[in-house]
Amino acid sequence: MTAAHPLGAHPQALEQSLKYYFGYDSFRPGQREIIEQALQGRDALIIMPTGGGKSLCFQLPALLQPGVTLVVSPLIALMQDQVTALVENGVGATFLNSTLGAKETQERVAAILAGKIKLLYLAPERLLSAHFLEFLETLFQKVGVAFLALDEAHCVSEWGHDFRPEYRQLSQIRRRYPQLPIMALTATATARVRQDIVQQLNLKTPHLHVSSFNRPNLYYEVITGAADRFGQLLARVKSAEGSGIIYCLSRKTVDQVTARLQTEGIAALPYHAGMTDKARQENQTRFICDDAQVMVATIAFGMGINKPDVRFVIHYNLPRNLESYYQEAGRAGRDGEKARCTLFLNYGDIRNLEYFIKQKSNPEEQRVAHHQLQQVLEYAEATECRRSVQLSYFGEFLSGNCRRCDNCLADHPLEDWTTEAMKFLSCVARCRERYGMTYIIEVLRGVSNPRIRERGHDQLSTYGIGKDRTGEEWKQLGRSLLRQGFLEQSADGYGILKLNAKSWEVMRREQTVRLVVTKPRQSGEDLKPKAREIEELYEYLRRLRKQLADKQGIPPYMIFADSTLRLMARSRPKTPEAFLKVSGVGQHKLDQYGKEFISAIGAYLEDLPMSQ
Ligand code: ADP
Ligand code: ZN
Repeated sequence: MTAAHPLGAHPQALEQSLKYYFGYDSFRPGQREIIEQALQGRDALIIMPTGGGKSLCFQLPALLQPGVTLVVSPLIALMQDQVTALVENGVGATFLNSTLGAKETQERVAAILAGKIKLLYLAPERLLSAHFLEFLETLFQKVGVAFLALDEAHCVSEWGHDFRPEYRQLSQIRRRYPQLPIMALTATATARVRQDIVQQLNLKTPHLHVSSFNRPNLYYEVITGAADRFGQLLARVKSAEGSGIIYCLSRKTVDQVTARLQTEGIAALPYHAGMTDKARQENQTRFICDDAQVMVATIAFGMGINKPDVRFVIHYNLPRNLESYYQEAGRAGRDGEKARCTLFLNYGDIRNLEYFIKQKSNPEEQRVAHHQLQQVLEYAEATECRRSVQLSYFGEFLSGNCRRCDNCLADHPLEDWTTEAMKFLSCVARCRERYGMTYIIEVLRGVSNPRIRERGHDQLSTYGIGKDRTGEEWKQLGRSLLRQGFLEQSADGYGILKLNAKSWEVMRREQTVRLVVTKPRQSGEDLKPKAREIEELYEYLRRLRKQLADKQGIPPYMIFADSTLRLMARSRPKTPEAFLKVSGVGQHKLDQYGKEFISAIGAYLEDLPMSQ
């Protein structure tokens, strides 16, 4: 311990503890109240979407009360992940489960009885074993038990998507120790499951917290009937700034997509039930540790993955239902930073799913599956705000423009681009329908290169008539003409542009062409020098983080979150005091990593020509 225990009667005491242990400056919505109620010893039911910050709700009160807090969690991987993260923050936490040998178990038990452990993670069957119940008696007498936190509490309900009978047995604990407060936490969206949790666990007038299920940092989009689905996928992977998950329906597609991405030089790995446990585990670890950028997976992947810095989730095939879509897409951006969720709607997929549904023998199952498919299609084909469609499904209503989905962005007034479309299409005609998009745009923009000169295309009347627009704008127009059916493209891989009857209507001004013009993303060259320096320093700090993580065999995000590195790159702290001010740096992290990061920042600044 490097500073005094911050707990006191001071009104800011909770914020101080938050900073001290976790490095954060303020609570997320709901957290403060939940923690205050927990400190009063009240039962609680906490409903928060993935990434809402549930763990902190029981971790902080556990640290601020005497005794040990029991945390029940169904997944061993999640348990280990949380314990590692807590230990990284200098908190006494450990788990007991079947992966441990007898000696290790004994050591941990000794540490618990010595009062060194504040959070003890357990699988439900362990907690309920006769052996542990006996130990629990001793625990109550010797060190005290603050409360019981039940993570993934929807597992008690048959109505949930992950019912586990051993979870239901937890009511025994309530009967044995009626005074022991229970905090149940879940990301379940449905009301029925919530009721069930209260009933099954016999919660006494619990403090109920229900967060909004809106995830404002996620951008939602749907790509309909893409002629070149893989090309669209690739473009998204290449423009992404971090890790991502691509969900496919079948193992076969997983393998194909992985192979094609690898050919394109993307560090992608597969994950599906046809692989050995060992191979799956290995790929998962490489993904979590940032050794692979992309995980291509069936829905077998994701439960129990805590990686907070997933920057995109792509559904290459249609999901089974909207709730699964919400949960799977929701694995992006748990850290609250921006992330993109893309769904591909392909008509072939619908036919496949309909075929599967017809194969079901039970008519009730068939009906449910059909209804679920309908809902997915309503979402995918909606022209209104994507998040309002998703949330209305969970009984939550949003209005207005969210500005973070394709439909809301497309809500901007359409611009009339008929004149530009006429130029574009005439250029395709003048080039005798023998070239692809890139070439046509070069001719339009009057690019001078040997290819164009050799063919005499610099003599065409359309040569250079599009200088007033950027290449990116012409590309948007070209893609839109294809989508709207004013132009066609050969499917032989060359993408030769061809005219059709509708193209001629446009050229005769019988059709208007409207376009949603989105502003192009800033590319590296366009960044102002200052912004570029921040970006470079950020990348530099990421590399340092990766090295330190590899040395300790932990995932990089356990050291600092992306957002914390970004703040460092921006504020460039040069002293420990300044370093501690960065959100995400707690006392323990300062002690452990401060020196290295501060000197890395110093070294980077020295290398800058005429810095600042
Ligand atoms: P959940 O279990 O609800 O999916 P987590 O507990 O894993 O969410 O938290 C998601 C992320 O948010 C984690 O990276 C966590 O460190 C971060 N976080 C939680 N509370 C805060 C806070 N008050 N300020 C900043 N980050 C927070
Ligand atoms: Zn929207």
